[in-house]
Amino acid sequence: MSETFPGATTLTDSAAIPERQRLSFDLDADICVVGAGLAGLTVALEAARLGASVAVLEGRRVGWNASGHQLGTVMPGYDLAIGELIARVGFEDARELWSLSKQGADYVRSQASDELIPGLAMSEGVLEVSNVDAGEQLISRLQTLSEDFETEVEGWQVERVREALKTGRYFHGMYYPKAFQIDGRKYIHGLAALAQRAGARIFEDTPVVGIEPSGVRKRIVTPSARLRASHIVLAGNIHLGAPSKRLSETLLPVWRYAGVTAPLGDRLKEVVAFQGSVMDSDGTDHFRIVDGDRLMWASPETTWAMRPQRFAGAIARRIRTVFPALGQVEIAETFGGVMGLTVHGMPQIGELRRGLWVASGFGRQGMNASALAGQLITRSILWGDDRWRLFSPFELVWAGGAPGRVAGQLVGLWARGSSAAAGVRARYRERARASRNLSRK
Ligand SMILES: Cc1cc2nc3c(=O)[nH]c(=O)nc-3n(C[C@H](O)[C@H](O)[C@H](O)COP(=O)(O)OP(=O)(O)OC[C@H]3O[C@@H](n4cnc5c(N)ncnc54)[C@H](O)[C@@H]3O)c2cc1C
Repeated sequence: MSETFPGATTLTDSAAIPERQRLSFDLDADICVVGAGLAGLTVALEAARLGASVAVLEGRRVGWNASGHQLGTVMPGYDLAIGELIARVGFEDARELWSLSKQGADYVRSQASDELIPGLAMSEGVLEVSNVDAGEQLISRLQTLSEDFETEVEGWQVERVREALKTGRYFHGMYYPKAFQIDGRKYIHGLAALAQRAGARIFEDTPVVGIEPSGVRKRIVTPSARLRASHIVLAGNIHLGAPSKRLSETLLPVWRYAGVTAPLGDRLKEVVAFQGSVMDSDGTDHFRIVDGDRLMWASPETTWAMRPQRFAGAIARRIRTVFPALGQVEIAETFGGVMGLTVHGMPQIGELRRGLWVASGFGRQGMNASALAGQLITRSILWGDDRWRLFSPFELVWAGGAPGRVAGQLVGLWARGSSAAAGVRARYRERARASRNLSRK
């Protein structure tokens, strides 16, 4: 497995996270889930609730990667933009897919209740802000989402965005009042506890090193034991490795890093008056206020593993660039993980061959998309519901291995560079308009 490094200190360092034993004896189950991230544990929880016997095999520890080191923003949609989704599969299927993503978000909301997983500090509302002055594009997206895709969303004019966020870098905004955020680093451990309570067995330190997927009862091999199951769900993200190397190679690994500032006191509310998550339209910055006066901020990405601590300075500089009025900020903790991005921007959800399932490629929208994957796959296995086929047009495309990773980084840089340039042009045009208006007065 390649390396990912959790932060020096994290909310999930607490002793409350139980260690689970490795699988050291042979076992039979209805469903074997490979990987205890968001995807694998949602499959396990749902399948156990529906009465199946489930074993989850995790090579390291529950949530050690992205699933336990993320910001916890939950909103509908995929990494693929809505217009491109419609162009790819047509209006009706795009509507269905969008509606599934809303169901995924609703699922997370229902698990994150105080009765099921307490202490997740849920709060409402997500604001997507544009780095460019593109009001017309925004209006057409708003119409599509609210009229055709039945999603609650409000358009915010530039002035309203800038009242909420004191920066000249953002223009219009789209506010999703029904989107929400929870403590993304704790949710995964709550899911694991719920799955166990429902009867699923979770084994840590148990890498799956081989599978034999033919036949009705499939064989799963680990270093210390064997398992037999009628269904195998591959939910290993980019680390899957031996069980299906070719599947891992359809994902482009992208490491994303985040930090939490030291308390900023009153200066924070003078600059950030919005309490929910904020994401910019470049996909660069993603932040929100936590603990009353600290900023949690995700931004840097690489296509190779690095220690999150190394990005503390970059995150602090990024915060100052966006909000110069905040002055110096100290980053008190850092964390990060690797996401698996697909070439087409849609997750991999479906049956590869009889009884062999895949749930991966969730990219930046892992919360809603892994939840919907868990529901779709278990309902198909246990009830014959075949809505996962809506994802079939999005093939498993080779992400290019090592050369592909290099190309990925270059393409990413190019895309970011060009949108950053567009942002600069938009701010320039705005200043030019303002000075024209002034000189007319
Ligand atoms: C900094 C950051 C912020 C993010 N913020 C958000 C956010 O706000 N909202 C959102 O929706 N998404 C967010 N994401 C994305 C989200 O975290 C991911 O999409 C999601 O966690 C992926 O879940 P997963 O289960 O597919 O993968 P993983 O979390 O990687 O889990 C896969 C597990 O499978 C195990 N495994 C792999 N191979 C094997 C094997 N052969 N045998 C046994 N076990 C194996 C691995 O050890 C691992 O534990 C963020 C990501 C990062 C890094």
